Amino acid sequence: MPANIEKKTRKTIEKTSEILPVDFVNRIKTQFPFDSERFIDSIDQPAAVSLRINPRKFGVTSSVEQIPWCSTGIFLPERPSFTLDPIFHSGAYYVQEASSMFVEQAFRQIEHEKGRIVLDLCAAPGGKSTHLLSLLDADDLLISNEVIRSRVSVLDENIRKWGHQNVVICNNDPADFSDMEGLFDVILVDAPCSGEGLFRRDASAIEQWSVENTNLCATRQRRILADIWPSLKNGGYLIYSTCTFNPEENEENLKWLADNNSVESIQIPLQESWGIDEMEFNGLFGYRFLPHKVKGEGFFLTLIRKKEGADSYPFHRKTRTKLEKMPKQFAEIRNWLTTSDTEFFAKSEFLIAFPENKIPVLNALAEQLRIISFGLPVAQFKKNDLLPEHTFALSVDRNQGIFETVELDLREALLFLKKEEIRISSVTKGWLLVQFRGVPLGFVKNLGNRANNYFPKEWRIRMALPEIPQPWYL
Ligand code: SAM
Repeated sequence: MPANIEKKTRKTIEKTSEILPVDFVNRIKTQFPFDSERFIDSIDQPAAVSLRINPRKFGVTSSVEQIPWCSTGIFLPERPSFTLDPIFHSGAYYVQEASSMFVEQAFRQIEHEKGRIVLDLCAAPGGKSTHLLSLLDADDLLISNEVIRSRVSVLDENIRKWGHQNVVICNNDPADFSDMEGLFDVILVDAPCSGEGLFRRDASAIEQWSVENTNLCATRQRRILADIWPSLKNGGYLIYSTCTFNPEENEENLKWLADNNSVESIQIPLQESWGIDEMEFNGLFGYRFLPHKVKGEGFFLTLIRKKEGADSYPFHRKTRTKLEKMPKQFAEIRNWLTTSDTEFFAKSEFLIAFPENKIPVLNALAEQLRIISFGLPVAQFKKNDLLPEHTFALSVDRNQGIFETVELDLREALLFLKKEEIRISSVTKGWLLVQFRGVPLGFVKNLGNRANNYFPKEWRIRMALPEIPQPWYL
């Protein structure tokens, strides 16, 4: 723990504001033109509980409080047990802090072109990537990247659960994108930062804070921006965000980028009732979320448009794909999805669905990057048989007529998610899709006297089932 944090043991701490680093408090009092007393008081208030619905899977319930800057964001009055809600495990919603959902307002300012290629550079655990997938059209492609290997699997899991096929997940350093000049229409840099905006949720962010660390973060953010800049096309958009307050990591970095490159700063319309601060400096706009003014955590976002560089990326459309085409005998799988422009590839024994018109992009990415996964695994083939994959159950493009569905009650649904044996009411033998409240959970194979549970072992619920509370939407 840095020396400048008051020496109080955890047991004697009653308020988060009591353990704020002295240097942080001084900076808040002197550097910022806002009411520092109210700001510090707000750090002792409980954080709001919020989540973002997957609109392709679940309806936004009208009786709950909407997050005004996000069409699919809602506040809950208290934190429920998400683990004990079956549809949480199916990508029906993503538990996410409200301020970060402001990305949607930035995205709505972006000129709508067909077939955009969008990079989420710092993507794990996937909050903004899943949000982008909901905002993108089916003919857009999201490249969701995370540099830290150990954080990629949670990103992959969250994206699989969201159920879209127009996505590529990779594990690269920002510098690996530098040669791909003019490739991206939109880049989101949700930068690693000193996390001052998370202080009331995350005590470790307080413990790791120091002035030196904020400076290190600012330097690292500039390196990330410099590395990624060439891959944004002329006329493309950069969304830069952090969850910290200090100017070095926010407006100073924006100013640095604008001083060294040709950019246009884009203003984002706000409503006064949202409580978001618009900052204007040297003709540049930034949006700051302060916890005493906004129902959300600390956040900063800016949107700029690039006015220089390559107009497009020279795809070699004729490059032969290194991907293995699907064996012909499995052609029936095309009916499993409702999309007509999907191509299927064989990757070991799995069939992966991916948008056909994005294959040149996938090939270009595969030449430069470490691709972890792409598209959506639909089935596994064994000899001449097709076994449906769990991710196909979660696909938003699934043809609903292919497998019979069986509705489970709450306890049975949770037992299924624990990968335990469940009773199936259907007389139909073979593959059945089980669901809760109309949201698919996964597959069972009904053998008549019992049913085999095909929920993936690594995603199963490990906790014992106590008295099960009703989910928040019931
Ligand atoms: N966008 C994510 C979301 O909404 O769920 C949160 C991203 S978090 C603020 C920043 C991410 O940047 C982390 O996943 C971290 O591993 C990654 N990161 C750390 N160092 C990095 C670097 N040098 N370059 C790029 N990303 C980095």
